[in-house]
Amino acid sequence: MGNHRGDILCILRDEGPQSRASLARRSKLSATTLTHVTAALLQDGAVLESEIAETSGIGRPGQAIKLIPDAFHVAGIHLGAGLVQIAITDLTANARATASFDYSVRDTPPDEVVARAAEALASLLDEAGHPRLLGVGVGVPGPVNADQRSILTSINTGWRNLPLAEAFEAKTGLPVVLEHNVSAMALAEVRYGIGRRVPAVLYVYLRTGLGAGLVVDGLPFRPGGHGAVELGHIQISHHGPLCSCGNHGCLESYVNESVLMRAVGLEGSAPNDLMQRLESTDAWGPTVNRLTDSLAIAVNLLTPDLIILGGHLGEAPDGLFSHLLKNLPPRVMPHMRDVLRIERTHFGALSGAIGGAAVALDHFFYSGIRP
Ligand SMILES: [Zn+2]
Repeated sequence: MGNHRGDILCILRDEGPQSRASLARRSKLSATTLTHVTAALLQDGAVLESEIAETSGIGRPGQAIKLIPDAFHVAGIHLGAGLVQIAITDLTANARATASFDYSVRDTPPDEVVARAAEALASLLDEAGHPRLLGVGVGVPGPVNADQRSILTSINTGWRNLPLAEAFEAKTGLPVVLEHNVSAMALAEVRYGIGRRVPAVLYVYLRTGLGAGLVVDGLPFRPGGHGAVELGHIQISHHGPLCSCGNHGCLESYVNESVLMRAVGLEGSAPNDLMQRLESTDAWGPTVNRLTDSLAIAVNLLTPDLIILGGHLGEAPDGLFSHLLKNLPPRVMPHMRDVLRIERTHFGALSGAIGGAAVALDHFFYSGIRP
């Protein structure tokens, strides 16, 4: 019944309340199977049956099956290089409680980061009155292995082949699934944000490094079960600065938080308006040109319908968007020029934690696993 259950839950999530007849049509399940599935969902308290007008507006109101968003919750954790964000969300990725903390990448071993994140989650659960959690999704700063239990490599933290899911499970007592953190952000937009019903979404995130994530036809693009879209490591100059990946002249070696902080004459932790401050400096032109060059390559290779900008790029002034909208289309294949949209993230500063929650919801609820 697992997949049938997941199918029905996804229809209710994406299309709202449905009559049994409509659910049967959309899911292509037999009446008997549908009756079994909905009975189990009603019993678990994940859905309810209520009176609702038929969507055609013709005829008397009928009974409809409806998801109960706060029937269960999940936790989303964003593990960035130097930043952890946590959110407890309902079944539609609405945040009910959030927390965050910074850590020093150089001085904090990964097990300590996990322990601090688990403590922060425990405090949030206290605050939120201990809602029933189905599991935890953790967005990690690098590609993950095929079973989403380990981070393979993270050049900005130096972590390699770490079984982080196991470490989080030991500290939280909850089931845990990992995803590349920017892929998780892209997934959240596709399921619950501005990427709904968009065939291919490319998410570009600037903070410590420049990361990207791609979701195609509703699934994170993870070739071989472990790949990632390494937009930040497109080499744009043979003689450029040494990149943290070991190569020279990668996009990320020019466009990263510490380089941009130096350009605006700041030290310490980056302000939210970093890109706005950059706009009035000499570094603005080269920065947006490098971003445009690299995005043109990404669009021609990956054909996203929508590019979503997050992190410092999500807070960038309108000048960045108008530059991209003017200069990107002429650089990409003609059929992509009319299709391509560029938007700010729907989830603002919470995009990482909501990304983790979206991964958890996919794995622990909408997959059809019985809560
Ligand atoms: Zn690199």
